[in-house]
Amino acid sequence: MQRITILGATGSIGVSTLDVLARHPERYSVYALSAHSRVDELAAQCIRFRPARAVVGTAAGASQLSALLRAAGVNTEVEYGEAALCGIASAPEVDSVMAAIVGAAGLAPTLAAARAGKKVLLANKEALVMSGQLFIDAAQQAGAVLLPIDSEHNAIFQCMPQFGGRMPAVRDEAAGIAKILLTASGGPFLTRDVATLDAVTPEQACKHPNWSMGRKISVDSATMMNKGLEVIEAHWLFGAPAERIEVVIHPQSVIHSMVSYMDGSVLAQLGNPDMRTPIAHALAYPERIASGVAQLDLTQIATLQFERPDFKRFPCLALAFDALKAGGTAPALLNAANEIAVQAFLDLKIGFRQIDRVIAHVMEALPHGDADSIAAVMAQDAAARAAAETYIAGLAK
Ligand code: NAD
Ligand code: MG
Repeated sequence: MQRITILGATGSIGVSTLDVLARHPERYSVYALSAHSRVDELAAQCIRFRPARAVVGTAAGASQLSALLRAAGVNTEVEYGEAALCGIASAPEVDSVMAAIVGAAGLAPTLAAARAGKKVLLANKEALVMSGQLFIDAAQQAGAVLLPIDSEHNAIFQCMPQFGGRMPAVRDEAAGIAKILLTASGGPFLTRDVATLDAVTPEQACKHPNWSMGRKISVDSATMMNKGLEVIEAHWLFGAPAERIEVVIHPQSVIHSMVSYMDGSVLAQLGNPDMRTPIAHALAYPERIASGVAQLDLTQIATLQFERPDFKRFPCLALAFDALKAGGTAPALLNAANEIAVQAFLDLKIGFRQIDRVIAHVMEALPHGDADSIAAVMAQDAAARAAAETYIAGLAK
């Protein structure tokens, strides 16, 4: 029986994870769940899955959750705040941690899971983008197993079986890898007239053609910052230099990514676009379990298309490659500025095309330093957030 903590249980990934777990009660039990503000939803999950512990964002949320659980006769222990999140991520009772908090808020608990040597199912790409080598080193030192949940990285992992479950190293010539081909749908604005992008609403930006996801990552997909963050994520997860990672637009989202080998072979992982597939893969790895996802019908799909990304249409993608090449805390700057800009866009404070301007401004205005400690990374994160807020306040919408 594997005991699981889900960080971010009420989100899109959290809900899909619980869906997969519920299909296999003989294999998995839920040790702890967390949510930030959706207390009612977390209460319903606790009533159904009976975790030992649950964590929310605030003291008020904790008393609300306690009252709901008491009324339902459920004796889950309720806590709140970051230290409690780190506690449920690293507790000795836990085998695997689904890291599915969105954004930099997920860094501390995800790192706590890695440092405690857990099996870490990594959905929270922002944590890895920010902390890079520090995170990979912490996981290695503690003997943590990192399994990618991001569909592209999960696909790439599946296309590198020669590593036998160890974290792959593309730079290792003996592995025979020429390139990682990271596929991207291109999001909802792939073909929209660029001149009209300033007028798009958050609802339009969040309406992804193939995937149903949380709002932040949906906006990231529309700007293609999501792919930019994924390039950096692939760099760290697979030891891949930037020039060996190529982004390929593939609007159908059926191929979830590919690995191109020296001998001319290209391995791909295909499936319907449903996050329960990579979640089930990582949960059961190296075994396979049912996920609830329908089998792929290739004759229904009929056509698979590919094209190169247009960096002018998607300046965020170029900014992410720049940050990766700059190294140090540059990716942390990029990530923090992006989080602030996306939230401002969702709050109707800036237009869609101003997202990349905010990020470019912060990247130019703040010097990046060495990412030699989590404290240094967090200081850059805070500075970038402040710079982005100031810049946004000065922008006339
Ligand atoms: P979401 O917005 O649907 O859910 C986010 C979860 O994080 C919620 O449970 C929320 O309560 C929690 N949370 C938010 N702010 C928090 C804070 N400050 N402190 C603690 N908890 C907080 O997001 P999502 O779409 O499920 O994405 C989660 C992560 O997985 C992101 O990093 C995203 O990039 C990654 N991811 C998502 C998908 C997808 O299909 N949704 C695919 C690949 C990767
Ligand atoms: Mg992805």
